[in-house]
Amino acid sequence: MSKEESSPKKNVKKEAKSFLLQSPKGMHDILPQVMPLWDKVREEARQIADFYGFAKIETPILEAEELFHRGTGETTDIVEKEMYIVKTKGGDRLALRPEFTPSMIRAYLQHGMHRLPQPQRFYSTGPVFRHERPQAGRYRQHHQINFEIIGGESNPVSDAQVIIVFYRLMEELKLKPLLVQINSIGCRICRPNYRKKLVEYYRSQPVCRDCERRLKINPLRLLDCKKEKCEEFKAGAPSILDSVCSLCRNHLKQVLEFLEEVNLPYTVNHLLVRGLDYYSRTVFEIFLEEKDLALAGGGRYDYLAEVIGGRPTTAVGGAMGIERVVEIIKETQPNALKERIKPKIFLVHIGDLAKKKSLSLTEEFRQNNIPVINVLGKDSLSQQLEAADRMNSPLALILGQREVYENSIIIRDMDSGAQESVPLRNIIEEVKRRLKG
Ligand code: ATP
Ligand code: MG
Repeated sequence: MSKEESSPKKNVKKEAKSFLLQSPKGMHDILPQVMPLWDKVREEARQIADFYGFAKIETPILEAEELFHRGTGETTDIVEKEMYIVKTKGGDRLALRPEFTPSMIRAYLQHGMHRLPQPQRFYSTGPVFRHERPQAGRYRQHHQINFEIIGGESNPVSDAQVIIVFYRLMEELKLKPLLVQINSIGCRICRPNYRKKLVEYYRSQPVCRDCERRLKINPLRLLDCKKEKCEEFKAGAPSILDSVCSLCRNHLKQVLEFLEEVNLPYTVNHLLVRGLDYYSRTVFEIFLEEKDLALAGGGRYDYLAEVIGGRPTTAVGGAMGIERVVEIIKETQPNALKERIKPKIFLVHIGDLAKKKSLSLTEEFRQNNIPVINVLGKDSLSQQLEAADRMNSPLALILGQREVYENSIIIRDMDSGAQESVPLRNIIEEVKRRLKG
């Protein structure tokens, strides 16, 4: 036995140390190498949001726990098993948001936005937290892009617009082939009818443990079970579309017609119910063909405002998971990262005097809006040139001791290796000329 193994104290110390060198389980760093892809996704989202008139909104990451208990729903996996709760010093219980929608409607109600022209369109992006079992595409802190249309009539064109917005965003990100699945889960009037039929059907089936509970507390979620054993029962379940009332049927019909108008392909999936309690009528999910995990999902939630104590407010929205999208871009578009990194002109210095001078020169380039990178902290010439090569710089500017005394600078074409000495006072103009050419 080694000394270390025989000393429990040392082991504890070692464990504590390695624990400190790990991000929390299921939570990850987004490193500079992949940040350009993250920026791309968020930038495309911003542009799409601008085009379709969605205004950016940010809400606190912490909200009253009760908002999700009531809003997201007591019987959902998110609330039942996955919430992170923080107790404040004052004794309040706050939750790290597991999703955006309840916060969006809370903010709309709190700020009296029903007095503004209706409907209001919002988008938001940021982290959400769910204590799930970490696995591929499933994190405990993940990031979403959210679009919501709140207020006005319960208008099917808004359902279609939310789906169009997510679809166009994914198209812009070159994710294909995309599959849109859509369903109606009815309203307060027709859903109880369907629930009864579903319970009758399921009562005689030997379902899994979870589904036994669902049968009692939230039968619609039976259709959401992912266990192999329950798949076969799902296939034979009565279709909700045979039970919805004429208003809900008509609502779905119109949503589908609007999607057809813009040639957006979809499949109606009568088994799609989604994991959240607040939906009414439309629910949808968007997948990439041959991938099991949804990239985005959402639906209409006309009752949520009332459930959290606000005035009746119609709304529809959805969320896209950035991690899942970035993973697919990395997998299927190997050059996407390279395209995002814009090459800069490299400023190389040799010697202390040149290092000092290179600082003021960098500032001069910035004032002239010329992208220059000055690798401070690396004094060797070969190391600096290597870095310039790695970064695909078109030009390197070399400032040595002699150049500083002569008030000149060497300009090097990184492709051909050709070098030329230029008076320092002309360098901005010279670089501009070469960048144009
Ligand atoms: P799933 O069925 O995959 O658990 P969900 O229905 O719980 O998804 P939503 O609440 O609709 O997911 O969240 C919107 C999107 O956020 C999902 O379509 C997915 O892209 C992403 N997402 C959800 N949970 C996670 C997670 N744990 N890790 C990474 N991304 C996630
Ligand atoms: Mg989930």
